Amino acid sequence: MRWVVGFWASRLPWTSVLAALTVVVAALPAWASSLSAWRITSAGQLELRTSLDVRPQAFFEAGTALRGPRVWVDLPGAPSRTRSLPGSGALREVRIGRPDGFTTRLVLEFAPGTQLDPAGLKLVGTARDRWRMDLPGLANQGGTGIGEGDLDAVTRDLPDRQASFPTATTPLSADGLPVVPRGRFKVVIDPGHGGPDPGAVGIGGLRETDVVLDVCLQMARLLQARGVQVLMTRTSEVDVDLPPRVSLANSSGADLFVSVHANALSMARPDVNGIETFYFEGAGFKSRRLAAALQEQMLAISPGSPDRGVRTGRFFVIRRTVMPSALVEMGFVTGELDSRRLADANFRRRMALALSAGILNALQEGP
Ligand code: ZN
Repeated sequence: MRWVVGFWASRLPWTSVLAALTVVVAALPAWASSLSAWRITSAGQLELRTSLDVRPQAFFEAGTALRGPRVWVDLPGAPSRTRSLPGSGALREVRIGRPDGFTTRLVLEFAPGTQLDPAGLKLVGTARDRWRMDLPGLANQGGTGIGEGDLDAVTRDLPDRQASFPTATTPLSADGLPVVPRGRFKVVIDPGHGGPDPGAVGIGGLRETDVVLDVCLQMARLLQARGVQVLMTRTSEVDVDLPPRVSLANSSGADLFVSVHANALSMARPDVNGIETFYFEGAGFKSRRLAAALQEQMLAISPGSPDRGVRTGRFFVIRRTVMPSALVEMGFVTGELDSRRLADANFRRRMALALSAGILNALQEGP
């Protein structure tokens, strides 16, 4: 919904205008944009000031013959209005968009032919409310700075927020994934459910089995490209019992086992969203570390979706596997926010990147 204040002001007595505005303001704290200020300097740096401890996430899309590359940053909370500002030099335009009711998207649209190396693009947190990304393609282009809001203001602390500094940096493309020695590691990926068992079914008929299979097939390709041998418990819509999944893993000599699922509650609870990862308590610290690495990455690409935590669970596939293992729940197919994302092929691509980054990080630390 877009509020056009001028419309109301011209047709309603001022008391009604005040009442309408009060409703909007009262609704703001839950989903207001966490982007407080931004600036792109002529030296080629993007700077952000955000609410404290949010997890902005940056993305890159290569250019085509017709248009230049794009970099965008998603932040929790929707902007009050969408807008676009003309750029200069290699920066063609900056847009503030709302891809859904929960997200602010800051888009940097570059001129065709602008050279940006996605592997070198990183959004770096410099304080609990400050972020910076170097854009070498913009430096010395003769453009002037552009921005909105006061970057130097002090961000007010919100007492109900956790003081945890976001640490995950999810790669924007396969090139940015962590590197491990080629040919050394073997990983089992377990797409939950399958065939006659669709798993959870959510909003718009979104099926857990379809979501997890798509993400897992992409994860397999990404990990194989990094020289990791991947075994999958299923690669199509077939039903595989839990014991064969575990025996495949246990007889493979794999270093890690990751089971991929999506959550469900009730169709009457679209308000419940969130990300969680399980490990088996008796499995040792490596399972917990794997679960934490996966959870961190999933949260980083899911602004606004609650952190339901790294938790112990007794699911058969993590209880009976002999190697470090974890079971991820990528979001709720019955949740309004999560289901919209899980239904989006671009989000599933990012999820595959995030989970692959989590696995590679865990392998780097020693499986
Ligand atoms: Zn499941």
